[in-house]
Amino acid sequence: MSIETIKIEGIPSAVSRIGLGTWAMGGAFWGGTDDSQSIAALRQAIEQGINLIDTAPVYGFGHSESVVGDALVGLRQQAVIATKVALDWDSEGKIVRNSTPARIRAEVEDSLRRLRTDYIDLYQVHWPDSLVSIEETAAELEKLRQQGKILAIGVSNFSVEQMEQFASVAKLSTLQPPYNVFERGAEYDLFPYAQKNNLVVLAYGALCRGLLSGRMQGTTTFAEDDLRSFDPKFQSPRFAQYLAAVEELTQLAQERFGKSMLALAVRWVLDNGPTIALWGARRPEQLRGVDEAYGWKLSAADIADIDAILAKHIPQPIGPEFMAPPHRQG
Ligand code: NAP
Repeated sequence: MSIETIKIEGIPSAVSRIGLGTWAMGGAFWGGTDDSQSIAALRQAIEQGINLIDTAPVYGFGHSESVVGDALVGLRQQAVIATKVALDWDSEGKIVRNSTPARIRAEVEDSLRRLRTDYIDLYQVHWPDSLVSIEETAAELEKLRQQGKILAIGVSNFSVEQMEQFASVAKLSTLQPPYNVFERGAEYDLFPYAQKNNLVVLAYGALCRGLLSGRMQGTTTFAEDDLRSFDPKFQSPRFAQYLAAVEELTQLAQERFGKSMLALAVRWVLDNGPTIALWGARRPEQLRGVDEAYGWKLSAADIADIDAILAKHIPQPIGPEFMAPPHRQG
C-alpha cells in the first residue's frame, strides 16, 4: 500500500496525509493512559509511514510531548513533529489562552526540552487569545522561525479574518480546525481560504473522538475524566442519532468498498480538500486500519449518499464548541 503524502511549505520532507494525534497519550481528559502503549503506538506509526506526529504542551500538561520525545529517540529524522503554543494552565489544571510573547518564548524552550529535539517542524498557535494582538503573536513566531527553532508556522481554531491578520506578519503554512463527517464548519470558509493560499489543513477529530470508529454502542460509557462524558454528541438523545448514522455509514463502507467505518471516515476527510487527517490513537493496535484509508477515492455520488445518510439521522448537528478553552481575565 503506498502512502499518500502532501507538501507543507517550510518542511523539507513529504508529510503523510494521515498524522498521529497524541492528545489521549497525555491522559487528562481521556480517562488516563499507559505510557508503554503510547510509546509502542508512536513507534508503530513511524514504522507504518505515519511521519506527522501532532502533540501540544497542554496535552497532559507536558506529558504527551514527553512521551513523544521518549518514543522518538533514534527516530527523530523520520518524524515531522507538530506541536502547539499559547495555552497556559495552573496547578489545578485550569487551562486559559495565553499568546503573550513571554509565554511563547518560555513554551518553545519547554517543548524543545520535552520533545528532546533542537527544532520543531510545525509550530501551531493552539487557540487565538483575545488579549494579545494577532500581529504580536505572529511576529514572535516569525522570530522563532528565523532563529531555526521552528521550520513552519500554523494556527488552530482561527477564523479567516484572524488568519489574514496573522499572515500579514508571518509566513503561514497550515491551519488546524475540527473536521470530520459530523463537524463540517471548516469547509464553508476555512477550506476555500486554505486552497487560495496554498495552506495545508490538519483536520482534528477526524474520527470524531472515536464516534466514527464503529466501536461505540448505545451502552458505551466513559470515565468521569474522559471528555466524552460531557461531549454533547455522546449524550441522549443525540448519541443514538449519531450512532444510527454510523450504522448506516458502516454498511455503505462495507457494501460499496469493502472497507471499515474508520477507513471511510478518514477517506472522506482526505477527499474533501488539501488535508491531513489526524488519527488519535494511544495503543498500537488502533493504527492497524490506517493503510485501508489510502489508495482509493470517493466519487461525488458517494459523497452525496453520505450527505443523505447524515441528513436522515441527524436533524440538528452539534459542533465541537464545548472544547474551546476560556480566555484569561483581562
Ligand atoms: P479522534 O482522532 O477523533 O478520536 C480518537 C479516538 O478514537 C481514540 O482515542 C480512540 O478512542 C478511538 N480510536 C482510534 N483508533 C481506533 C480504532 N482503530 N478502533 C477503535 N477506536 C479507535 O480524536 P482526537 O484525539 O481528539 O483528535 C485527533 C488529534 O487531533 C488529537 O490527538 C490532537 O492531536 C488533535 N486535536 C487538536 C485540537 C486542537 O484544538 N487543535 C483539538 C482536538 C484534537 P479510545 O482510545 O477511547 O478507544
